[in-house]
Amino acid sequence: MQDAIKVEVAVPIPIDKTLTYAVPPELGGSVTIGTRVAVPVKARLMVGVVVGLGGVRPGDRRLKRVRGVVDAGPVMTPGLLELARWMSAYYLAPLGEVLAAMCPPHPGFRRMVRLVSGPSDLELEVMRATDPAKAAVVEALKGGKALSLDTLKRRMGSGSVPGCVAALEKEGVLATEVVPRKGRKPRGRKDDAGTEPGGASVRREPLLHELAPHQRAPFEAITAAARERRFKAFLLHGVTGSGKTEVYLRAMAEVVASGRKAVYLVPEIGLTPQVMARVRRFFGERSALLHSRMTAGERYRTWLDALSGDIDVVVGARSAVFVPFEDLGIIVVDEEHDASYKQQDSPRYNAREVALMRGRNEGAVVVLGSATPRLETYFGALDGAYELFEMPERIAGGLLPDVTVVDMKKVGGGSPLSPQAEQAIGEALERGEQVVLFLNRRGFANFVQCRDCGFVPRCRNCHVTLTYHLRQKRLVCHYCGYSEGGKDTCPECGGANVDFVGSGTQKIEDYMAERFPEAKVARFDRDSTRLRGSAEDLLTDFDGGLVSMLVGTQMVAKGHDFKGVGLVVVVNADVSMNIPDFRSGERTFQILTQVAGRAGRGEFPGRVIIQTFNPEHHALRFAARHDFKGFFAEEMETREELSYPPFAKIVRIVAEAPARETAQQAAEGFARLARKLSEDAGAGVQVIGPARAPISRIKRVERWHLVLKGGRAGDVSTFVASCLRAYTEAAQGGGQVRFAVDVDPENMM
Ligand code: ADP
Ligand code: ZN
Repeated sequence: MQDAIKVEVAVPIPIDKTLTYAVPPELGGSVTIGTRVAVPVKARLMVGVVVGLGGVRPGDRRLKRVRGVVDAGPVMTPGLLELARWMSAYYLAPLGEVLAAMCPPHPGFRRMVRLVSGPSDLELEVMRATDPAKAAVVEALKGGKALSLDTLKRRMGSGSVPGCVAALEKEGVLATEVVPRKGRKPRGRKDDAGTEPGGASVRREPLLHELAPHQRAPFEAITAAARERRFKAFLLHGVTGSGKTEVYLRAMAEVVASGRKAVYLVPEIGLTPQVMARVRRFFGERSALLHSRMTAGERYRTWLDALSGDIDVVVGARSAVFVPFEDLGIIVVDEEHDASYKQQDSPRYNAREVALMRGRNEGAVVVLGSATPRLETYFGALDGAYELFEMPERIAGGLLPDVTVVDMKKVGGGSPLSPQAEQAIGEALERGEQVVLFLNRRGFANFVQCRDCGFVPRCRNCHVTLTYHLRQKRLVCHYCGYSEGGKDTCPECGGANVDFVGSGTQKIEDYMAERFPEAKVARFDRDSTRLRGSAEDLLTDFDGGLVSMLVGTQMVAKGHDFKGVGLVVVVNADVSMNIPDFRSGERTFQILTQVAGRAGRGEFPGRVIIQTFNPEHHALRFAARHDFKGFFAEEMETREELSYPPFAKIVRIVAEAPARETAQQAAEGFARLARKLSEDAGAGVQVIGPARAPISRIKRVERWHLVLKGGRAGDVSTFVASCLRAYTEAAQGGGQVRFAVDVDPENMM
């Protein structure tokens, strides 16, 4: 056997090692670290990334061969490979899966068919008579050139091609081979979804405002750090309209002027066309979009443009943090608190943390910005991890909206709207103002609430809302498994109106259309905006005044700059307060603040009405006063008392299995093992649970979960990794169970 160059390839399968392959001589030069290659794994051909070169060794083992190179060159920079290794260790995800999530989609494979021993003319004559479809395949290949299966199908327009090819291959007439499609860089580009409204001409001149003093301070600090080419992180805590975006763009422009690159992350790019328009104005054609609603081809193109240095700026959602810029100078993470920065499938990374790590590795500055920073982030800023800039005033001097809290306990009847809200809506419409109705339907709303006093039962151990199980008539804690019987009377006030709160709020659009027949009502949520471009269209209609009332979920709260909105009504603030998650208070505060920020951005002052059964809830009290610091102080006390983040790091583990008992036993076995290991090693990791997950079954898979809490981030990951190894060695539960590990979970469902 010949000597061969060996390579280490990370493939996207759940194993914690790389696989070794031999590089055939004809591919020798093109296989380098960071290239994507097609390799056989068991019986399949998969795409992996070369992460190591193994050198030349005598051909002592029969190694499988690399079958092809996917792209025209390496798609991973050294910085990205380093980042991938960190992500793999921290988020406990296989390196191959991490790399696959980082890379753009690959162009796929083609099955090539060629003739090996063609039939004689006579044989072909016979074939024509007996099996014309097969004969046609042979004839198409007669020139001796290999054709792809797709080409054959196209030429012959027949569904029988694959069957004929398979039969002929068996007979030894044909041979087939799988080759990766070459990723070629297409000519002519810049037709992104994000071209500037109003035409192709791009104004190169940035519209420079004279920065206000509260903008100049962060701008100067950021650009000073960027000039030193070192990592530094900043937090801009500024109300909506305080001029944060202007600071980001100006700082990015400085970085780009110095020859380096910029990444601008936003939670959901499809929802913020205005941001892209502003970026275009600053950076013109040297900027591009990257987000999951783009086609694979569009994303691939942006990726190649970033690699070749044809663009300087990429704006995108979560995965844009992996843009392959070689010399990255700045990463902006706008709305840094947003939960959509967290990926819900493996690798379960948070783009904010990844941005910070990438900045650290590559000597770039990282700018986090929000009107309602995540409590951990604000805590970090006070602790010195990020340099903090407060931007408490709106640029235009506009006032923050006036917030009224309506106590729904005092409102009788089945109407979803209080008389106060109905009246305010009528008046706003009469004045020609637009109205936003906000319904928070996120997650589960199946909790129990007293209609008289608003009391919602919570777990005495975990402080989260108990979830009502209709069938068993029991209230269950989905963190620790604690449960109690459902009661007919309220334990707080003795009232008999204890009620199950479902998510029937969806009907509100119809209700509004009926109540205000003169108003043009539109709905804005995941369902109504599933089609590409429809979110933009809806927002444009609303911005242009074609729609007078927008009924929407939290999607309406995110970042839009509507000038005509005079009134925002939060239909039921309690839904988000009562999600069984330790962050429910924080999320409620954030969402109320963001929604309120939609009102009064134009010439007239805005008004916000919040309907609730819990006017005393701290999230609501502080949101109504626009008091972030007050909320932070109070919420931090609870966090510390119960050791939730930032006072502890948490890892959630979900045991998934076809049968409920299997999932339960696995979760219990894992919990026992983790408790024992923590005790033995003095690791100080606390194990909570297991319990049935709030969403207890997904696609016929039963789910049980447990939560591990520990002092330090990396330590908990390492501890969980050793637990998983120990569990696998003991081989409990067999192959029926899968553990989904979520480090720093955002979602406890
Ligand atoms: P944020 O990102 O905090 O919501 P923006 O940067 O979008 O704030 O600023 C709000 C509005 O004020 C925008 O229309 C922006 O163009 C404008 N603006 C920002 N900075 C200035 C400035 N220094 N002078 C005048 N207008 C400004
Ligand atoms: Zn509990």
